[in-house]
Amino acid sequence: MTVGASVMWQPELESLDREPLERLVVERMRATLARVLAEPAWARRLGGVRPQDVGRLEDWRALPFLTKDELRDAYPYGLACARAAGYRRVQMSSGTTGNPILNPYTAGDVAQWGEVMARCYVAAGVGRDDVIQITPSFGLFTGGFGFHYGAERIGAMVIPTGAGRTALQLRLMRDLNATVVTAIATYPLRLIEAAREEGFDLASLSLRVGILGSEMWSDELRARIERELSIRTFDIIGMTETGGPGLGIDCAARRGIHVWEDHYHAEVVDPATGRVVPDGAEGELVVSTLTREGLPLIRYRTHDLTRVVSRARCDCGRTSLRLDRLRGRADDMVIYKGINFYPRQIETTLLKHAGVSHEYQVVLESDGGGERMTIHVETEPGCDPTVAARIRRELHDSLALSPEVRLCAHGAIERPPGKAVRVVDRRPR
Ligand SMILES: [Zn+2]
Repeated sequence: MTVGASVMWQPELESLDREPLERLVVERMRATLARVLAEPAWARRLGGVRPQDVGRLEDWRALPFLTKDELRDAYPYGLACARAAGYRRVQMSSGTTGNPILNPYTAGDVAQWGEVMARCYVAAGVGRDDVIQITPSFGLFTGGFGFHYGAERIGAMVIPTGAGRTALQLRLMRDLNATVVTAIATYPLRLIEAAREEGFDLASLSLRVGILGSEMWSDELRARIERELSIRTFDIIGMTETGGPGLGIDCAARRGIHVWEDHYHAEVVDPATGRVVPDGAEGELVVSTLTREGLPLIRYRTHDLTRVVSRARCDCGRTSLRLDRLRGRADDMVIYKGINFYPRQIETTLLKHAGVSHEYQVVLESDGGGERMTIHVETEPGCDPTVAARIRRELHDSLALSPEVRLCAHGAIERPPGKAVRVVDRRPR
């Protein structure tokens, strides 16, 4: 069987009509409540609520939010459940401060991960005939293993390179005819750059699909990656707390990211008031898990900003709700001279200009009594130097920012091994 873009991994669940889908969600909400209430730490948090109190989706909104800090404070297993069933593995999310967040997986959780990842692959038009190169690391970070479990389900071949060793990645990609690359969103930029430096012909690759996520990547960056690697990309979401990548993915119709609603309940709330906002309005994504056993989440505040695009049936036939691509994190917001902005807004402006690279860094410093902002951006040889003034003018017009724009040579900005560092804030706190 060849799996095409319009095919689904579990059509009976992925295209379930809204009414039975919502009935299933309510049933699983109750089951999740019953599971966590068996743990004294959860029972204390939830203050006397009973599973039967949830009769409709809206009843869920009466439950308290779960925050990142609570999960950190619960290190290692303070809010974990299903200990009697036994854990089979653990994944970890490392924050910059405080305890890491651990997510212990039962055998059921590992199976659930494989299932949602298989759905994601199939939504991206990937099937058993594909050769999938998995470039996120296989370790405590959730990327590698999730992509692996999903690939096993659909019966595809895996090249488990893990992170780094970009020259070897390119070589294996070419010699083993990889058709799919999975990566954190800015890693394809490393591949493109390494190919250029080593005179590697990207046209010798057989790649056709990229499944990318774990970082904010603008539509402009996406277009660049697709053009240079001649691939079609799919935006996958998910985080350690929710069980890794696989919470959702956009489909070939590219009209929003499908969230697997029979596994995850998504709400979008006003970050200030915590109230659910109307569909279409931007807010913070709040996720509840409906089938996870080791670390169920009830109304977890992700800090990711998005909006509900639609709850109607998509052109691809799937009925699960669609979210807009994540537009950054509430905590990425920068306040500079009283103006709020997100790094993606700068990226969008930069990438409109020819000769300007996707490598940039915004540096914020204090300057006497004031503040100074410098945008360092790499350019290609022969780039028109007046582009700096044009970028400055556009940022002033669109965001009322007046940064200094410094063009620098290719390679001048440090490449970290993991996620890209877009903002360096040296201002005293
Ligand atoms: Zn769709």
